[in-house]
Amino acid sequence: MSQADPRSMLVVGAGVAGWRTAKETRKAGFDGPITVIGDEDEIPYDRPPLSKQVLTGEREPDSVRLTDDEEIGSLGIDLRRGVSATSVTADGVETSDGERLMADVVVIATGARAAVPPIVADQPAVRTLRGLGDSVGLAGDLDRAGSVLVLGGGFIGAEVAAAARAHGTDVTIVEAMPSLLGPLGPEVGGVVQGLHHDIGVHVLTGTPVSAVDAHDDGAEVELADGRVLSADLVVAGFGARINSEALGDLAGPDGIRCDDHGRVEGHPGLFAVGDVSAWHDPRSGRHVRREHWSSASDQAAIAAHAIVGLEATRFLESPPYFWTDQPGLKVQLLGWPELADREGWLEIEDVDPKSAYGWHHGDDLVAAAILGKPRLFVKLRKELIATGHRLGGSTVDDA
Ligand code: FAD
Repeated sequence: MSQADPRSMLVVGAGVAGWRTAKETRKAGFDGPITVIGDEDEIPYDRPPLSKQVLTGEREPDSVRLTDDEEIGSLGIDLRRGVSATSVTADGVETSDGERLMADVVVIATGARAAVPPIVADQPAVRTLRGLGDSVGLAGDLDRAGSVLVLGGGFIGAEVAAAARAHGTDVTIVEAMPSLLGPLGPEVGGVVQGLHHDIGVHVLTGTPVSAVDAHDDGAEVELADGRVLSADLVVAGFGARINSEALGDLAGPDGIRCDDHGRVEGHPGLFAVGDVSAWHDPRSGRHVRREHWSSASDQAAIAAHAIVGLEATRFLESPPYFWTDQPGLKVQLLGWPELADREGWLEIEDVDPKSAYGWHHGDDLVAAAILGKPRLFVKLRKELIATGHRLGGSTVDDA
């Protein structure tokens, strides 16, 4: 057995990152056994539609599958559903079935789950959204509920609120920060808030929650300013926490530190991809953990190529990318806002004002949020790829 010429591979976690790493490794020419274990009892599926079209009923739950039995068979991948890794090391795992599985290359792709902070812990009637079952269940709840309180106005909370309106449900978002979509800042958040207002979502920003009391027959939420809101249903959108219980000290609080091809620092033969990983980004000089679908997917392709000794150049040059569907508008974020020393709306000839918000470092555009405008997106993406090339091996201090 040798890590330079691996003969067997084991992937832990069967989300987009884990599944795609297995598939791309096989497609890149790896002909040894590939085993994927996933603790969900599901064929791998995509999560972004769960807070969008699956929740509104525009897409069937089955349409979000990333593969099917036929493809799994033709790729010769041993997918073990409903099996969790209870302990992961650089050369193998112990499973919930009591097995010890060993491989030359182990890929950790255990992702994240919905955060449940103490204020909503031990409250089974509070809904969260991470998995396919959550989305299908919540769609039914939204049909039955006359009113819903969404706690947290981040991307998922805001998408759930829009879906609730599509079900005809009265909906209020309660957000502690001054605006919706906090990481995009108050300017973009303000535009998005206006769109929610237009479809009848009530939005309370700058409003922390101090207590929640939710039952199957209704809920009361007390706000820090003393007001009490009631509704039929409460959905918590408080972000995500990495799944690291089986990982021992491989994962820190900010994820598993990897190089820019997904190799876990200090552990040859061990890779990590997707939401659980914090890859080194040579453009920013930092280790960054991103909870973005395209990061998970691109990292899978890059790691798969690295495992067979190849370079996935096209994916390596992609700037970080995230999108969210807000009422009537796709909002897309590209680049590295964390590197900026100034920001503001971009004024671009022949483009409506407030279509793109930019982050600059000196004269370089380092990130942009694009509101709709697909052609502008293509133009700014090219510009940011060029910025990425210029940043190249930047020596910005590690965060
Ligand atoms: P996951 O998808 O979390 O998959 C990890 C898998 O590993 C899970 O099945 C988990 O159960 C399993 N697992 C965990 N521990 C173990 C273990 N010990 N043993 C075995 N299996 C284990 N991103 C965007 O860019 N745009 C969007 O619009 C967007 N919308 C989203 C909407 C929702 C509702 C959610 C939840 C996420 C959304 N995202 C979006 C984020 C994106 O889906 C994630 O970044 C992506 O799913 C990460 O993939 P992953 O494979 O790393 O992790």
